[in-house]
Amino acid sequence: MPVANGRHYLAIPGPSVVPDAVLQAMHRPAPNIYTGELVEMTHALVPDLKKIARTTGHLAMYISNGHGLWEASLTNFLSRGDKVLVCVTGTFGSGWADVAEALGADVARLDFGKQSPVDPDALREILAADTSKDIKAVLTVHVDTATSVRNDIAAIREAIDAEGHPALLAVDCIASLGCDRFEMDAWGVDVMIAASQKGLMTPPGMGFVWFSDKAASVGASADMRTPYWDWETRANPSALYEYFDGTPPTHHLYGLRAAVDMILEEGIENVWTRHEILAGTYWAAIQAWGKGGKLRCNIAERENRSHAVTTLSLSAPEATQLREWLSEHMGITLGIPLGMADWEDPEWHGHFRIGHMGHINAHMVLGLIGSIETAFIALGIPHGTGGTAAAAAYLAEQGGMVPQAVPQEAGTCCG
Ligand SMILES: *Cc1c(COP(=O)(O)O)cnc(C)c1O
Repeated sequence: MPVANGRHYLAIPGPSVVPDAVLQAMHRPAPNIYTGELVEMTHALVPDLKKIARTTGHLAMYISNGHGLWEASLTNFLSRGDKVLVCVTGTFGSGWADVAEALGADVARLDFGKQSPVDPDALREILAADTSKDIKAVLTVHVDTATSVRNDIAAIREAIDAEGHPALLAVDCIASLGCDRFEMDAWGVDVMIAASQKGLMTPPGMGFVWFSDKAASVGASADMRTPYWDWETRANPSALYEYFDGTPPTHHLYGLRAAVDMILEEGIENVWTRHEILAGTYWAAIQAWGKGGKLRCNIAERENRSHAVTTLSLSAPEATQLREWLSEHMGITLGIPLGMADWEDPEWHGHFRIGHMGHINAHMVLGLIGSIETAFIALGIPHGTGGTAAAAAYLAEQGGMVPQAVPQEAGTCCG
């Protein structure tokens, strides 16, 4: 079917869609890295990135993807042998735990499986048993991109505080920053990491570690610290090269500036609301389709679902067939499953993910929903009818697009 040409839509949970404004900002000759515009622009990005994270704490920037940030963050506040408790809700939480272990930390995993968020009471029990307060840090992801679960970070902080435990709270927001509400200071987060290529709408290649005063002081004696990842100079540079311990990522900085401008112009609260409404639009379609077939969201409860990514289960091998068909016939790439089944297991072909993070709007979401429905029909995959209509109705309602009846003031109409 010759209708796939046109702009391709990469709808995976990172890298996300790069706005034209970001691409255009990056299209320029190599800038001066000693003085002038790039230097000023980099200084000015720091407070704006803190605004997006809702913190007045510190920021260290890196030329890195997310995996590098796992290491960058941990090496700054841990010493070899330190006890670390990792709350695991999918592949990304366990990945961070593996890195901590490889670095020489004494890692305990509290695993909540593939379909549930962190239970703060279970965390509290472990912290209560740690009477000598040996656990140096609690690690968790805000959104686990594999399962699409969203954890309640404020409740996790409350559990730590309720036990009067001094552990640092470190959170991976790589999938969620700029998509799901996140309040670093209000929620008592000590260390937070995010990368450029998801909610921040910039190509992969830059990473960020925000950290609190408490993390800075705990980290002062950390023996895992290495010169390159050290956050102290990066957070307090006296020249541009000190931000990145070497050559700055010149073109990424221009792209990031444009992306951050877009976020601040829209307003971070509005960015979060847009993601919430658009995620709900997908879920409305999925619910309708699920009534006549096997499709369902991996996370049952809406309040535990990410607004940036949705993991779905269908049946094997239909999920893989669906992805391949959409790529070939519709110009859309959906996300492969991660950690839902082993790669060689035929069950692997029963899951997929939709990325809905960053530079997305209503027509992209409705176009993708209509395309999935077209694929169901073309491939003969059993599904409930009316998914696209349900999505449209939800969007009209939730997006505030249905005209509200004008309330009649008492007494004005009939005397
Ligand atoms: C994408 C992601 C990572 C890994 O990032 P890379 O840039 O692929 O290394 C880590 N954690 C979470 C939650 C992610 O979404």
